[in-house]
Amino acid sequence: MSRRTPSRFAGVLGWPLEHTLSPVIQNAAARATGLDLVYLAFPTPPDALADAVAGLRALGAAGANVTMPHKEAILPLLDGLHPDAAAIGAVNTVVSSTEGLIGHNTDVEGLERFLTEDTGLDAVGLEAVVVGSGGAARAVVRAAEKLGVARIGIAGRDEAKAAGVALLANVAEVVPWAETERRAGAADLVINATPVGMGGEDLLPGAVFRPGQTVLDLIYSPPSTLFVERARRAGADAWGGLGMLIHQAALSFRLWTGVDAPLEAMSAAAIHALGHPLLKGLDRGD
Ligand code: NAP
Repeated sequence: MSRRTPSRFAGVLGWPLEHTLSPVIQNAAARATGLDLVYLAFPTPPDALADAVAGLRALGAAGANVTMPHKEAILPLLDGLHPDAAAIGAVNTVVSSTEGLIGHNTDVEGLERFLTEDTGLDAVGLEAVVVGSGGAARAVVRAAEKLGVARIGIAGRDEAKAAGVALLANVAEVVPWAETERRAGAADLVINATPVGMGGEDLLPGAVFRPGQTVLDLIYSPPSTLFVERARRAGADAWGGLGMLIHQAALSFRLWTGVDAPLEAMSAAAIHALGHPLLKGLDRGD
């Protein structure tokens, strides 16, 4: 009889947490690799976050994912930060290590891997525009700078908030909100980091896309938005957010287990769940 890895657990802390895809993706990875790891959803109200983190320590969790509204609030509760998490001030993955609980942000490397491995884009010297100035936009700016983008414009409806995001990278600058459609039409790489499109809305209806552009919507539910479809019809190389979601989840799995994540099994589980009527209301990309 083969020896089994000791039983371990991980989970996701968020509030509310009704429709997260993470358990589906991570449990599929554990099954496909034969690891004895179980992944659970831990709905955690804001006033229970410190207790939940203490619970991870006390019970010996392999780690956890962290989603809204805890990505920033968890920082002071941890023992250390990976440089990506420190740079953008947000944690989406906690890893239990000999140094204690360490906060990572796998959205940054997840996006880097998606753009280089899945789209095949060489971003060096390109001009990018990101729409939105929340946590995902911060990860996009960090990833874009690491990939060698020459200039990244941050277009947020709250220009003061966009200015805060632009401080993250030397190559970043604010795009006035009224200029967003024109600048997106001219950029090499355009990324939607807002939830606009989840309900069937068209982000930037006045933007004119063209062949040669790469367009990415971080939204993965629905798998393809009007923004993506319009860019694709115009000849741009346009993608939904599922690929990045799988890469960031795979990086978390690798950090907890030391085992390379089975990307295909994770994608298949996510696609199956997205088609499931009970998960139609899925509302977060992480
Ligand atoms: P967030 O921190 O709440 O930020 C959302 C941003 O969108 C804010 O800047 C917000 O502006 C802006 N926004 C919201 N409604 C808008 C509207 N009607 N018009 C213009 N701007 C609007 O959320 P987040 O964590 O950055 O996530 C953003 C999106 O990325 C979500 O759809 C999430 O699911 C997705 N995501 C996907 C992945 C993936 O792996 N595919 C990973 C992370 C996130 P204000 O600041 O003015 O409110």
